[in-house]
Amino acid sequence: MEVSKRDDSSIVFTGHLKNKLYLVDFSKSKSKLETYLVEKSSMSWLWHRRLAHVGIRNLAKLLKDNHILGLTNIQFEKDRICSACQAGKQVGVPHPPKSIMTTTQPLELIHMDLFGPVTYLSIGGNKYGLVIVDDYSRFTWVFFVYDKSQVQDICEKGTKGVRSSYQEDKK
Ligand SMILES: [Zn+2]
Repeated sequence: MEVSKRDDSSIVFTGHLKNKLYLVDFSKSKSKLETYLVEKSSMSWLWHRRLAHVGIRNLAKLLKDNHILGLTNIQFEKDRICSACQAGKQVGVPHPPKSIMTTTQPLELIHMDLFGPVTYLSIGGNKYGLVIVDDYSRFTWVFFVYDKSQVQDICEKGTKGVRSSYQEDKK
């Protein structure tokens, strides 16, 4: 493993893998010691992560009141946003309820959901469930099928039957 500089991509030091750990021999390295120092700002974010993502303001207070032994010479500044904290604070916005009806008659729009295969077969030997909801009337059908290939047949026959009974009702 080689670590190189970001600006001129020259190799800073080389590490050798030993028992899942990269070992770096700095005594043989040509680079100056300053190279290996971590910048102060990222050090503060390291402490932020170490202490279960505590707020930067609280970290500054801990440092100021000397609550962490040996922790000195670090500036806690909120100079960026911690991605993990940001993700943790994000909330999902619920779908707004639909108050207007967009369909004008039954079977104009249907919602279907096929689930399965289920772990245990039904008594009738079926392993898939097909749920059909009519958007206009909210009438719901549930079919149990043995194979997915039966779904098309059910849909065609089912909608035909419903449509004809609806036409009869209108007469
Ligand atoms: Zn964080």
